[in-house]
Amino acid sequence: MFPKKLKKNKVVYLDNAAATPLDISIAKKMNKVAEANYYNPSALYSQAVQARKIIDDARAKVASVLFTQPYSIIFTGSGTESVNMAILGVARKNKQNGNHVITTKIEHHAVLHSMKQLENEGFEVTYLDVNKFGQIDLGEFKKALKKETILVSIMYANNEIGTILPIADVGREILKWRKTNNSVYPYFHSDACQAAGYLDLNVEKSHVDLLSLNGSKIYGPKGTGLLFVKKGVKIEPIIYGGGQEFALRPGTENVAGIYGFAEALDMAEKNRKTLPAHISDIRDYFYEKIKSDVKNIALVGEDIKSPNRLPNNLNIVFKGVDAESLILYLDHYGIVCSSGSACSTDSDELSHVLLSCGVNNTDATSAIRFTLGKHTTKQDIDYVMKFLPNVVEELRRINSIK
Ligand SMILES: *Cc1c(COP(=O)(O)O)cnc(C)c1O
Repeated sequence: MFPKKLKKNKVVYLDNAAATPLDISIAKKMNKVAEANYYNPSALYSQAVQARKIIDDARAKVASVLFTQPYSIIFTGSGTESVNMAILGVARKNKQNGNHVITTKIEHHAVLHSMKQLENEGFEVTYLDVNKFGQIDLGEFKKALKKETILVSIMYANNEIGTILPIADVGREILKWRKTNNSVYPYFHSDACQAAGYLDLNVEKSHVDLLSLNGSKIYGPKGTGLLFVKKGVKIEPIIYGGGQEFALRPGTENVAGIYGFAEALDMAEKNRKTLPAHISDIRDYFYEKIKSDVKNIALVGEDIKSPNRLPNNLNIVFKGVDAESLILYLDHYGIVCSSGSACSTDSDELSHVLLSCGVNNTDATSAIRFTLGKHTTKQDIDYVMKFLPNVVEELRRINSIK
């Protein structure tokens, strides 16, 4: 039975890795764009040219965040779509030159299920193991490379446990391999949907050929995304139609969405100087409180102080507690969090990320992901800590009676 709700309408939102609130100033400007610029950007009249200019300006804006050229940016309809285009579009286009692809076991389903599709189409996929921190081994990666490898896809930062992967190191290994083998392959794609606002998106420094981003994790609009495609990379579309987005992503452009996404990415990049330290400060405060007030917990992923952990991520096993029950109890108090991946709540599967990190099956059902955002305050954490220890104890008591 649920205890009585104490404060009505209080919400502490700690699921920012699943979705962020749309920035209010961006929402307002997007509305104006949507109302005024409904014209088809491909038309010839002056109003359409204005709509086209909004897209061009957005493209230039995001290109500068990535340190690349505007013609290397393809706007898409989501992070998932960008990832699908990168993986399926590159593999299909280059299959005469090899049928092998490398990825990791802790990728988002957008990547893993695209890889499954490639296997259906006759490709061979190597899934790299990770250690208990969620890190790949560069030696293992080098061993996995072969003449047939046309694509490597490794995420920049993990959405469940916040582990930051060494993509610049992978990029350098790939450059060396290409040089030694006198080849343009493999191409290197990174799913950076959790990275924006926290990590450097300079594509020259990371040596990526393709990079996926989306708007919904960075206080921008949902259903927006981009794929960076380095000049010269051979790729084909995954959907067919008109000539929009350099004929790689047909369909009338989402002008207001593209505008809002570019504003959000620009804002995230500007905030990157101060926000990570601010958020990790509150996150560390939260973790210390949990450690002192709740028994039998274990942090999943990198050490809390590690530079290789996203500053907003806490993934904690509350031993002996059913994570879904805990989420529902906390929801009752207006505390919003998730278990592992938001995308797996309707499947009975345990988190592939936690299992890959060596978390046992029992503990995998007891893991909660708290992801902080730019609006999270220490007062929010104090509010959570008024309830969390008691709820955990209560659920453990119920569990022990069962
Ligand atoms: C959210 C997310 C995606 C999918 O993005 P959508 O815009 O929801 O399609 C892909 N990869 C990672 C790492 C994510 O966090």
